[in-house]
Amino acid sequence: MKPFEYHEPKSTAEAVGLLSKLGPSVKILAGGTDLIIQMEQRTCMPRHVVNVMRIPELQGVSGRSGTITIGAATSLREVETSPLLRDKAPVLCEAVSTIGSIQIRNLATVGGNLCNAAPSADAAPPLLILEARVRTVGPQGERDLPLKEFFKGPRQTALQADELLAAIEIPEPPCGFRGIYYKQSPRYAMDIAIVGVAVGVLRSNGKCDEARISLGAVAPIPLRVAEAEAILNGNSPEERLVNTAAEISRDAAKPISDVRASADYRRAMVETLVRRGLNTLLSN
Ligand SMILES: Cc1cc2nc3c(=O)[nH]c(=O)nc-3n(C[C@H](O)[C@H](O)[C@H](O)COP(=O)(O)OP(=O)(O)OC[C@H]3O[C@@H](n4cnc5c(N)ncnc54)[C@H](O)[C@@H]3O)c2cc1C
Repeated sequence: MKPFEYHEPKSTAEAVGLLSKLGPSVKILAGGTDLIIQMEQRTCMPRHVVNVMRIPELQGVSGRSGTITIGAATSLREVETSPLLRDKAPVLCEAVSTIGSIQIRNLATVGGNLCNAAPSADAAPPLLILEARVRTVGPQGERDLPLKEFFKGPRQTALQADELLAAIEIPEPPCGFRGIYYKQSPRYAMDIAIVGVAVGVLRSNGKCDEARISLGAVAPIPLRVAEAEAILNGNSPEERLVNTAAEISRDAAKPISDVRASADYRRAMVETLVRRGLNTLLSN
């Protein structure tokens, strides 16, 4: 690892001041479970590292006025075990529980998972079906944008060099909304997804009022599949519609073939898992 200068701001304002002053050779450090490995492998060689873990306002899960706020530096373990999230958005807890191991989740943060912008990031698909928004802070102040506009490509986000991710905000899901996350990976534990599928459904009177489908690890960025959702919205959940939505999701995936899985396999798994998720949520 190349030597670097270490900074430990105590507030968001101090962190943003450091980012502006130190310029492009600075990297934010949260849990370090991605960054430290990249620095060891010399794929990332910052001259300055700004640790954001001592900033109280970036920590914790809270709920107010129908919005759940998760500080960017909240550990994945805290997200996984948060009583508020378990009650209101259990699909996020379920997905986060598949990340690494308890030791990794104790260190790793939800902000780090999103800002690292791996197509396989397990927090992304559930947050997309929860219609999460992200709040960033920079020298010009705060910005608020939908999570789906945050991802720009593998390892690329909408963050400017002098901005940090402050929080993830989730509108409290409507009563009756249910979600499910499937992670397909070669090993049961300690492995990244080769396909991640999150499905959410809001039902009433036997109808599917709203369906939400998102995919991870099968395109340069995590995706929502609006076209597949539209097939189901407002309709009775017939098998024919579920199959069509699964096929549209399969065709929306643009996976690569690599050592973990072929593109054909990933596409086939998207179709299978979307169908499984819809059938599970629409039949109970
Ligand atoms: C053994 C192992 C297993 C893993 N398994 C999984 C898995 O199953 N699923 C999965 O999705 N991931 C997995 N990961 C990857 C990693 O643990 C997660 O992506 C984790 O959430 C990263 O969070 P972190 O706090 O450690 O981020 P860091 O490593 O500290 O940072 C990651 C990136 O985000 C940036 N960053 C962090 N916080 C902010 C912020 N607030 N504002 C702006 N930029 C920021 C950093 O500059 C860096 O570029 C695994 C890693 C290991 C080592």
